[in-house]
Amino acid sequence: MKEAKVCNCPSCGGLLKFNIKVQKVRCNYCQKTFLTDDLSDDDINWIDKAENENEIIKPERLKEYVCSSCGAVIEAFSADTTAKCLYCGCDLVLSSNFTKDAQPDEIVPFTITREKAVSILNDYLESVHYSVPKELKNGVQEGFSGFYVPVWLYNCRVSGQMEFYGFKAYKTLDAIVKRGGHIDYVDFPVKANDKIEEWLINSVANYDYSKAVEYADELISGFYSSRYTISASDTLNEVRKNVIFNFERGLENDTYEFYTIKLKQKDVKVYNEKLKYVLVPMWICRLRDRNWTHIFAVNGQNGELIGDELKLYATKRIKIFNAAILIVPLILGIIYNSTNSILWEKAFIAAVILSILLFIIVLAVRNNRLKKANQKVIQIKDLSLREKYYKDVVFDKREKEALSEEVK
Ligand SMILES: [Zn+2]
Ligand SMILES: [Zn+2]
Repeated sequence: MKEAKVCNCPSCGGLLKFNIKVQKVRCNYCQKTFLTDDLSDDDINWIDKAENENEIIKPERLKEYVCSSCGAVIEAFSADTTAKCLYCGCDLVLSSNFTKDAQPDEIVPFTITREKAVSILNDYLESVHYSVPKELKNGVQEGFSGFYVPVWLYNCRVSGQMEFYGFKAYKTLDAIVKRGGHIDYVDFPVKANDKIEEWLINSVANYDYSKAVEYADELISGFYSSRYTISASDTLNEVRKNVIFNFERGLENDTYEFYTIKLKQKDVKVYNEKLKYVLVPMWICRLRDRNWTHIFAVNGQNGELIGDELKLYATKRIKIFNAAILIVPLILGIIYNSTNSILWEKAFIAAVILSILLFIIVLAVRNNRLKKANQKVIQIKDLSLREKYYKDVVFDKREKEALSEEVK
């Protein structure tokens, strides 16, 4: 059985934990702090690894581990890299799932504390309190969990040139068109774990990866964390295909002056590839009641709130209000009908007009608030592959070789 490691202080044996405010690993017993560089290992060349071995990742399953602190046997999923011992309560790092060649190169540490994340989401929900069931707000405090999400960062330059036959009109050959240029991909994030929601991964482009530090077990202890389940070779095959496709389409689309084009020849290659395996911090909160489910995420580095667009939702107070503005004119109408007095008639008409006005005004105010609140949240929808890899070509060649009459 594999051992689940407790991160102990090298000086006193106390528990080590990453302190977000101090930005250092600190012993909770002797208070000694450690720079993460003291704890790190060497990086691996993922491109070499991807090209030389086809790593097969087994489907996820439950595995047993021994807690190194109390000796109890605990269960965890094979792709998880952290766990909590149910018996002694220690935060564990499942290093055996993280054998040296599967260790992240770098980690972007949390700089946003849990309290900060809670207050960011609470402020937001407060601003839309007529659109969110009240009970859900109580779930915010408990609902947040800190996750280190694994991503691949891809770096490369795709460059080359393409030649096309350009047609001015249907079947009228006009010129040979030459287009060339390049696109740089810098720290382009690609999903590394297939269990993570696609829209969350689309938000990871917003991290400042220059602030990443060397990976160390002590940094993830106490947070949820998982390893990659999409291998370096699968990732490389996928991104290469997509960056080349995007580049070639960029060159093709630059020939709009022609009625139609046909490929003559091309020479497109990918250079300076680099793949990095990185963990990024995210506070994730799931709020749920009978008819309302939302996942919010707070970027653990810059505090950006990420979530779906909120729809207009009638809370209990709004439902009571709507019922009241319907019932009051109705009652007045019944009284007027039975008394037939002019006074009640006037009251009835006034109530109808007032109710309609109130309904419109309240709806407009709620809509306006919701719109403003939604602007505060970064809404990241599922992007298509096309949108995800889209980048403009930097052109260095835009030539046209007119064909003489004879060739035509
Ligand atoms: Zn210590
Ligand atoms: Zn234990």
